[in-house]
Amino acid sequence: MNILEEIKDAACVGITGHVRPDGDCLGSTLGLYNYLKVNRPDLSVDLYLEQPGAEFSYLTGIDEILHTPKNVAYDVFIVLDCGSIDRIEPFTQCFEQAKKTICIDHHISSQNNDFADINLVKPEASSASEVLYTTFDEDKVNKAVAECIYTGIIHDTGVFKYSCTSAKTMEIAGKMMEKGIAYSDIIDNSFYKKTYVQNQILGRALLESVLFYDGKCIFSNVTRDEMAFYGVTGKELGGIIEQLRLTDGVEVAIFLYETGDHEHKVSMRSKKQIDVAKIAAEFGGGGHVRAAGFTGKGTVYSIVNKIGEMIERQYVDMSQ
Ligand code: 5GP
Ligand code: MN
Repeated sequence: MNILEEIKDAACVGITGHVRPDGDCLGSTLGLYNYLKVNRPDLSVDLYLEQPGAEFSYLTGIDEILHTPKNVAYDVFIVLDCGSIDRIEPFTQCFEQAKKTICIDHHISSQNNDFADINLVKPEASSASEVLYTTFDEDKVNKAVAECIYTGIIHDTGVFKYSCTSAKTMEIAGKMMEKGIAYSDIIDNSFYKKTYVQNQILGRALLESVLFYDGKCIFSNVTRDEMAFYGVTGKELGGIIEQLRLTDGVEVAIFLYETGDHEHKVSMRSKKQIDVAKIAAEFGGGGHVRAAGFTGKGTVYSIVNKIGEMIERQYVDMSQ
C-alpha cells in the first residue's frame, strides 16, 4: 500500500488509534498525521486520541490532537494500532460516517477482524509504526515523521529487545536515525524516564509483588487510594509491568491497577512460553502473544486466580 495513493482523491482525512494511547499508537498516528501535513498540504487532516502522556510532548503535532469527535463525514478515516472497532471509542462515529476506511495494524488475525474497507494488517511486524512506514515514500519522510516512527518502534519492542523485533525493524530504525533524530533522548525521555513519584510507586509495587506458581509468575497491584496518594494516573504506571517481567525465573508478569469498584486494568507480559493474548481474549481484551491486557471485573485475587488457572492449562497442554 502507498498511503498517498490511497487518499489521492480525498480532501479531508481523519485519523485515530486505540484507547489509552501508548508509544506505538502515538508514534503511528502522529507519524501519519505529520507525513500527510508535509506531503499533502492541501489536505484537511484531523487526529483524534485521548490525552497522551507528558513524556511524548516532543512529538510534532501532539498539541493538535483532538479529543472530541467532530460531526464530519471524512473522505477517508484511518485507524492505526487497533485490532477492533470497539477500541476507538469515543471516535466510532467518525469511522462510521466516513466514505472510506483504512486500518493499518499489527495485531494477530484472531483479534483484527478486518473491520475497515481496506486493511493492512501485519502480525509479524514489531509495531503499527513499522507497518505504516512501509506505506511511505522514503524520500518524503522528514525528521518529525522519523521521530514518530522511531518512538513507536522502541515502545512496542521494549527498545529492540522483545521477540517481535526483526532485522527489518532494525533497518527501519536505522533509516530513522539517518534523518537526524535525537534517538538517545527519545529512548531516555519517552521510555525510561520516571518522575520521582513514579519511582516511588514503582518501588512500592515491587515491594508488594507476589511470586506464585513455583516462581514462574509474579503479580502486583496498585489501588485507587494509592494512586490518589501519589497523585498519579494509570498512564504513569507503564514501567511497572516491565520491571516485574525482568524478575529472574518469571515467565508471566501480571500488573493490575484499580479503575473502579471491583474493576481493574490488567497488563500481562510473558517471556517465552505462555500466550498472554489468549488469556486476555478470554477476559474480553487482547494484545500480542508476549504483551496483552484487558479490563476485568473482580477483586485482584479473583482475577489473578483465574489467570493462574489459564496459565496452568497452557502448561498442561504444552506437556501433552
Ligand atoms: P498494556 O499492557 O501495555 O496496556 O497493553 C499491552 C498490549 O495489549 C497492547 O498491544 C494493547 O493494545 C493490548 N491491550 C491492552 N489492554 C487491552 C484491552 O483492554 N483490549 C484489547 N483488545 N487489547 C488490549
Ligand atoms: Mn502497537
